[in-house]
Amino acid sequence: MSQRIETTCVQGGYTPGNGEPRQIPIIQSTTFKYATSEDMGKLFDLEADGYFYTRLQNPTNDYVAAKIAALEGGTAAMLTSSGQAANFFALFNIATCGDHIVASSSIYGGTFNLISVTMAKMGVEATFVAPDCSVEELNDAFRPNTKCVFGETIANPALTVLDIEKFAKAAHSHGVPLIVDNTFATPVNCRPFQWGADIVTHSTTKYMDGHGAAVGGAIVDSGKCDWMAHADKFPGLCTPDDSYHGVTYAEKFDKEGAFITKCTSQLMRDFGSIQSPQNAFYLNLGLESLHVRMPRHCENGQAVAEFLHKHPKVAHVNYCGLPDDPYYAVAQKYLPNGSCGVVSFELKGGREAAGAFMKHLKLAAIETHVADARTCCLNPASSTHRQMTDEQLKAAGVPAGLVRMSCGLESKEDLIADIAQALEQVK
Ligand code: PLP
Repeated sequence: MSQRIETTCVQGGYTPGNGEPRQIPIIQSTTFKYATSEDMGKLFDLEADGYFYTRLQNPTNDYVAAKIAALEGGTAAMLTSSGQAANFFALFNIATCGDHIVASSSIYGGTFNLISVTMAKMGVEATFVAPDCSVEELNDAFRPNTKCVFGETIANPALTVLDIEKFAKAAHSHGVPLIVDNTFATPVNCRPFQWGADIVTHSTTKYMDGHGAAVGGAIVDSGKCDWMAHADKFPGLCTPDDSYHGVTYAEKFDKEGAFITKCTSQLMRDFGSIQSPQNAFYLNLGLESLHVRMPRHCENGQAVAEFLHKHPKVAHVNYCGLPDDPYYAVAQKYLPNGSCGVVSFELKGGREAAGAFMKHLKLAAIETHVADARTCCLNPASSTHRQMTDEQLKAAGVPAGLVRMSCGLESKEDLIADIAQALEQVK
């Protein structure tokens, strides 16, 4: 029976049998018992389904991953210890030493550093393109050794909106997949597979968990990428893996299962980075109300953005729900029900004004976080981007007076009243 997303949020991924726990059981065990060595051998040969060690897989995680796969409309998914691990695994599963990645330049700073510094040290090169580049500029970024394209549905912190179809078409015309980090939109507001994306990643730390309780990540495969059609580009998926007795993932697990099986069997085995079953349980609690929370985050974000937009002490507001935002039209297409609760704005008085404003806020706390139930804010110039001069900040699109505010689930009237009184005190 096909379900609506609200039902999947609540009941997806786990269906208890007669007399079994109603809530997802936390399988707090590092290991699993078998009767014979032959039984265990079959698991190591990927001949049988089952669990042998929680560094690779755990049933609790798999229930929650199955729910996220269903929410995104994918065929397979896995949980990781963080969003960073999810993005690294998704990229490194197909792009290794000597390969090349095309990525949107408007992405989370941690992911930008992962690609431009750490993966570069591993021999993976990258070309960054502006999210609103022309089709020609996008196509020019590809090289014969390009293995994937990467972008964020709604970028953190720039809040640009990715034209997913444009990026997917370019990726596919070069025989490679599009990987989309869908953290800020969540599948409640955008399902990138519907627009041609092939792999979706999440920092589940954000809206999916939604309560600032557990760091985590997820990777979902659409099952649509025909690896064998471009076998020369993806030897890791299309030729035998000697470390698994010669299994060829794209043959044995087909389009639907190859990517996640390889990622689990190789990268989880070798790097660890598993989400703890306890955290997966917390994540599932968050997912159960994701469809109820997201509209409220959007309502609060929209109301705060509209208030700031009219305020004389505010120079500029970034929020794709404002009709004069440069990403309004693209957001209408990909995010018709709303984007997220994160708004960024520049105060006229620069860094000092931002500091004074934030000091006087009573509800919004100063935090290095976004996307949970409590409203929080950050001035990148004095925190995440602290090492940069005002000129460098301007060039990076992060002016010194920029405040990023993540609107939580409080009353929008109370949030606006708090912002109004804090702005009042900025000289
Ligand atoms: N992707 C996006 C869009 C993010 O905003 C973040 C963190 O803020 C990450 C990935 C990294 O996730 P995590 O902090 O869970 O490692």
